[in-house]
Amino acid sequence: MSLVTGTDVVKEYETGGETVRALAGIDFEVERGEFVSIVGPSGSGKSTLLNILGLLDVPTRGTVLLDGEDVSTLTTAERTDRRSETIGFVFQSFFLVPTLTARENVEVPRLLAGEPKETTRRATELLERVGLGDRLDHYPDELSGGQKQRVAIARSLVNQPDLLLADEPTGNLDRDTGDVILDEFGQICEDDDVAVVTVTHDDYVADYADRVVELIDGSIVSGADAEHSRGDRRA
Ligand code: ADP
Ligand code: MG
Repeated sequence: MSLVTGTDVVKEYETGGETVRALAGIDFEVERGEFVSIVGPSGSGKSTLLNILGLLDVPTRGTVLLDGEDVSTLTTAERTDRRSETIGFVFQSFFLVPTLTARENVEVPRLLAGEPKETTRRATELLERVGLGDRLDHYPDELSGGQKQRVAIARSLVNQPDLLLADEPTGNLDRDTGDVILDEFGQICEDDDVAVVTVTHDDYVADYADRVVELIDGSIVSGADAEHSRGDRRA
């Protein structure tokens, strides 16, 4: 069973008496451990799709199964729970808390677990994983853009998600730093069997992904399912 299966997913927005169709009835799958990149022109529905995958929004019609469960039937509170158990987010702007150290930022999503020692242990281990073992007690303004994004990646993994969603994760980084971040996503897919789905304008992201899904005007024009996975990243 796929981690995510979307069937005939439609998303419409009503604005000023007009209906905007952001997703025009799309079918898609995401497998465990797969690195999928969503590309397409501005306004093609990329962020809408990512928000639906992230349980931040619900489709107007169609079904989305997450680990076999129809997420459209969940209450808002259940969706919030499922999101924190299953999904990690990385954004273009890193959204770190400026008054917290790198380690404290990574700990934030796990504070409610009520296991402070285990949370600190995990945060430390994750920061070491992304090459920031010597920056644990640094504040965000003492870190470079690439380092901040690596803190954000460590934070997205602290609750051991099955799915990591990233909207333009390299958008604020130079090419070399972007390469380091994309390498990190590839490692996460391999080592932790986490599925990574990125939205991007950067052509070179496709070089790292197992599969590129292309959206135009709310329709998928290529790469909808895992059979299109090139699977050559691990080669
Ligand atoms: P992308 O991320 O590919 O640029 P989006 O998913 O943000 O595209 O948007 C897809 C379409 O849906 C666009 O036409 C956009 O204007 C419209 N749209 C997105 N969000 C909203 C919203 N909250 N209300 C109304 N229209 C929206
Ligand atoms: Mg967008």
